[in-house]
Amino acid sequence: MAENFASADPLFDTVLIANRGEIAVRIQRACRELGLKTVSICSEADRQASYGETADHFVCIGPANARRSYLNQDAILLAARLTGAGAIHPGYGFLSENTSFSAAVEDAGLTFIGPDARSIATMGDKITAKKAMIAAGVPCVPGPDTALPDDHATVEQIARDIGYPVIIKAAGGGGGRGMRVVQEPSALIEAMTLTREEARQAFGNPALYMEKFLQHPRHIEIQVLCDTHGNAVWLGHRDCSMQRRHQKVVEEAPAPGIAADIIEPVGLACVEACQQIGYRGVGTFEFLYEDGKFYFIEMNTRLQVEHPVTEMTSGIDIVQAQIKAAQGIRLDLQQGDVICDGHSFECRINAEDPDTFLPSAGAVTDIAWPQGEGVRLDTHIYPGYGVSPYYDSLIAKLIVHAPTRAEAITKMRTALAGTRVEGISTNLPLLRALFEDAAFAQGETDIHYLEKWLKAWRAA
Ligand code: ADP
Repeated sequence: MAENFASADPLFDTVLIANRGEIAVRIQRACRELGLKTVSICSEADRQASYGETADHFVCIGPANARRSYLNQDAILLAARLTGAGAIHPGYGFLSENTSFSAAVEDAGLTFIGPDARSIATMGDKITAKKAMIAAGVPCVPGPDTALPDDHATVEQIARDIGYPVIIKAAGGGGGRGMRVVQEPSALIEAMTLTREEARQAFGNPALYMEKFLQHPRHIEIQVLCDTHGNAVWLGHRDCSMQRRHQKVVEEAPAPGIAADIIEPVGLACVEACQQIGYRGVGTFEFLYEDGKFYFIEMNTRLQVEHPVTEMTSGIDIVQAQIKAAQGIRLDLQQGDVICDGHSFECRINAEDPDTFLPSAGAVTDIAWPQGEGVRLDTHIYPGYGVSPYYDSLIAKLIVHAPTRAEAITKMRTALAGTRVEGISTNLPLLRALFEDAAFAQGETDIHYLEKWLKAWRAA
């Protein structure tokens, strides 16, 4: 990565990682490779974390309840002050897209490794993001770029204008939550009321909007990388159509079957949008793709879970690049220097029952990870690790890279066969079966395919 940034004096030499689990390990590795010191934090439930031992400082900041630890801004800022950290990396989830946290970090004289509060406010709110993208000339899913009013008659008229089915979405939603599909007029008002209440409780923001519910789209996204000097590039595309309940299960790069001349203008529009809003660091523009057309749905103003598939194909360490951008180092990489090679898949290994999908907590008694060229494993668990019931069920990400998609599928099959996690339930049986499926192997399946496939798989 060193050749991709022109050198400058770094702004900080110690990074506090305000997260847990596999991403805390991933960020710590990037920091160490850049010669930076690290501060890891934990809740009382995570004192056993392996990354605590390898950090320069390890600070317990509160009880298991995330509201009082990983979401406790004051506790995190205090930990940074006490350990002399000059920057905070928020990872994904928790405070990563929180405007007030980004601002509080900067107000404390520290560097937030992510965009500034203004960019998060614009792009982290799905309604203002949609407005900004329309202004930048990027096509969005049909529907108004304004919040839904409370007045029932107006809402009914908006739905009629769009045409059923429609989807009601929370402006502040994330993680596949705060969305409801409405098939017919009689269900509209109740769906709006329920989603508004959910949005208020889950995201602290009751604003909703409505758009056309697309019937058979694929989820395709563009990774961008920007410095603080107005330079920006896109690092290719990913397909994240394999979803259950709007949550990604398997991701791949590149999205199969998309011709370069179709995707290139979209990538360039994303870069332009970043330059227009003065975006810094890494980000992802998410699109639905149907009948040869792209429709913007949202921007994630942070590092994403699936960033490794882009690292594998582009050869660029996205976390290191993100940290260097935050250090104010100039991106010394032109679009023409970004060359994506081969094909990569990522499987999210979750501690959950493969039939009921209920989280499975408890001690991991034994583990076997796959090995070999083109196989990568991002995880925080180890034999004896206790999977906590308090947090997300993601325990590992298995990533492969091969010259072609077909070879990458074979490599993933072999890697999954060589993976064993004992003591808790995982979704490994589901992932193994999915990689044997003929339609998935063919590629270009839509966002509804996995749920349909799951029904048949569970019935069999
Ligand atoms: P989140 O921020 O919770 O991830 P997104 O807006 O990215 O929410 O949407 C997540 C998923 O929900 C998409 O990948 C897609 O599967 C589905 N979805 C969202 N909007 C639409 C739509 N207009 N039509 C069909 N599916 C949609």
